[in-house]
Amino acid sequence: VKKGFELSKPMITAYLNSLVDSSKLEITNSAELSNAIYLQVSEAKKPASALIITTKARTVPVKRSGGSRHYSYCVQAKAVDTANLASFSGKVAQTLADSRSWAGSGKVSFSEVQSGCSFTLWLSAADQLPSFSSGCSPQWSCRSGSNVIINIDRWNGATAAWNGAGGNLNDYRSMVVNHEVGHFIGFGHAKCGGPGQSAPIMQQQSISLQGCAFNPWPTASELAGV
Ligand SMILES: [Zn+2]
Repeated sequence: VKKGFELSKPMITAYLNSLVDSSKLEITNSAELSNAIYLQVSEAKKPASALIITTKARTVPVKRSGGSRHYSYCVQAKAVDTANLASFSGKVAQTLADSRSWAGSGKVSFSEVQSGCSFTLWLSAADQLPSFSSGCSPQWSCRSGSNVIINIDRWNGATAAWNGAGGNLNDYRSMVVNHEVGHFIGFGHAKCGGPGQSAPIMQQQSISLQGCAFNPWPTASELAGV
């Protein structure tokens, strides 16, 4: 790997498409697969996707990029009172539909369903976080495979770093949903760009703002990377 080399989803997609450079075949799920491979490389997680190749429809041009991906999600409670779920799912839905969120990129959209979901948004007791993955800490929220897990202690109280910077709880909730769902759609962690700038949503703002201003939404450059 060259110094300064940065793997990107478009590079993976271009490579995948080069594998079936034929007039009769196309990769049906190259965007999803690129995401999955990007996730595996950037976070050493297993891809949730397998290669699917089908015969091209004769009159439909090959789509090399663009198009919108729709994700359905389920909402569940892990060792917390399910009475919390109505307000939780309301805030999640409001956040994910907000034009300042990932949906604002025009490339992804989200809706809650009862079953058959692409991922599950959990409201979980803090001590249950490691039951999803050994990489999940009781202290924080987490994303593991198709589980996006919000730690109820953080949901109800944010964090010392956030509260110390004067952030409010409603914004923290938007931030943590956008951050963990950001992992699910393929983003790794980002760092503060410089003192006083808006923190990238993929910065670990729960731990430290690194001199950045707290920010509950993806930045323009993050949205451009969807
Ligand atoms: Zn994270």
